Amino acid sequence: MKKKKNIAIVAHDNRKKDIIEWASFNWTELIQHDLICTGTTGRLVEETLAESCEKHGQVPPTISSLKSGPLGGDQQLGALICEGKVDMLIFFWDPMQPQPHDVDVKALLRITVLYNIPTASNRSTADFMVTSPLFHENYEPAIKDYAGYISRDVDID
Ligand code: PGA
Repeated sequence: MKKKKNIAIVAHDNRKKDIIEWASFNWTELIQHDLICTGTTGRLVEETLAESCEKHGQVPPTISSLKSGPLGGDQQLGALICEGKVDMLIFFWDPMQPQPHDVDVKALLRITVLYNIPTASNRSTADFMVTSPLFHENYEPAIKDYAGYISRDVDID
């Protein structure tokens, strides 16, 4: 991954307030990168960053928006990770309430592990991530070789 990162941001409804606070706190960092969000999260993050940029005379970033999570946004993100188009994920998921798209959430989290994508599920980890020296460096996440898991000679008779 390059110095300018593709950062995906998602927050469940009960965590939207947290993601807004986090984006507002880290706006100077975030506007230097390309942001990809699920629908509603994207709108809120865009508004938050636009407000901070306006206050400080900066040009607000354009955010790429996907579908809302329950309508397939998490799956779109998973596909982008498989294609190498996401460098890190900030995903504030709700630990207290089940979601209609829980299976998509699980799939997305699995794909982040598979592709060794730095992932933050809470505010502290997200703060550590954006303040890491690696955040401003080129970094190539090592991808484990999973070839041994894939059966090539399955006898179906
Ligand atoms: P949203 O989707 O950003 O459209 O609210 C997030 C989610 O619930 O996964």
